[in-house]
Amino acid sequence: MTVIISGKDLAKEKKEALKLKIIDETKKYGRAPHLVVILVGDDPASQSYVKGKEKASIEVGIKNTTILKPSTISEEELLTIIDELNNDDDVDGILVQLPLPKHINEAKIIKSIRVEKDVDGFHPLNVAALFSKQDCILPCTPKGIIEVIDSQKYQIEGKFACVIGRSNIVGLPIYKLLLDRNATVVSCHSRTKNLAEITSQADILVVAIGKPKFVTENMVKDGAFVIDVGVNRNPENGKLCGDVDFDNVKEKTAYITKVPGGIGPMTISSLMENTFECFLRRMNK
Ligand code: NAP
Repeated sequence: MTVIISGKDLAKEKKEALKLKIIDETKKYGRAPHLVVILVGDDPASQSYVKGKEKASIEVGIKNTTILKPSTISEEELLTIIDELNNDDDVDGILVQLPLPKHINEAKIIKSIRVEKDVDGFHPLNVAALFSKQDCILPCTPKGIIEVIDSQKYQIEGKFACVIGRSNIVGLPIYKLLLDRNATVVSCHSRTKNLAEITSQADILVVAIGKPKFVTENMVKDGAFVIDVGVNRNPENGKLCGDVDFDNVKEKTAYITKVPGGIGPMTISSLMENTFECFLRRMNK
């Protein structure tokens, strides 16, 4: 029997629990946590992600400010906005929606956010802290993935895990989190040879590549835990789909997440938790 894990339901539970904590702490400190999201340009996918963040903030009682800027904004202007937010005591979290237009250096922008307000966990100091097992803000998607696995009381320790994709925001950090939970982890990427040979041995398979329905039955071990991070448009019907061919793979798995409604909602609820965490750290300084 395959368990299809609803990230949507899990995220709802997480947000309900968080909402109660935020009510208490808002009373205690006289203000709610405040998240500022900066959206540059009018990419429809980014607009929809930003709307999702706004909606979730309202649900849990986080103050949300969305700053909209045209794609013609200069790097310098964007850095000035971030600098002001860094110095604003009423702002707890700053998030710049990626990707940015090509003329803006993303790495420079990420680095300009004060590490204490880096709710995405992308700042190089947060990344370094994660990789050296120090206190840090965990990146939202990898954090959500671990929570999905834990929700099934599945023991990660001792398992063979395979992560396809090695981006800074998903592949690498989830590799590290699984390693920290004592899985034996392999990182695969576009230059990996005999990919199916490796993936088909994995007890836990995390796929984050951005290729619709890339993972098929022959790449999956019987009884595997399959986490699909990809968000793509199905070329056949234009609907959202993952990196895993869900219908083809499902029966072979013990646990699987679906797109949409899997890791996406968990990423947003983790962002809400990170904002609350940044707020508490700043208040308790
Ligand atoms: P990315 O930065 O484009 O990285 C893609 C990774 O996939 C790279 O490491 C690349 O290898 C690897 N790859 C590409 N083609 C491959 C192939 N044929 N075989 C094996 N590996 C291959 O992507 P990302 O930002 O990590 O995002 C990945 C997907 O997750 C996207 O669909 C994105 O929209 C989605 N996403 C979802 C959430 C969520 O909340 N659900 C959050 C973030 C991202 P190389 O390193 O060798 O190039």
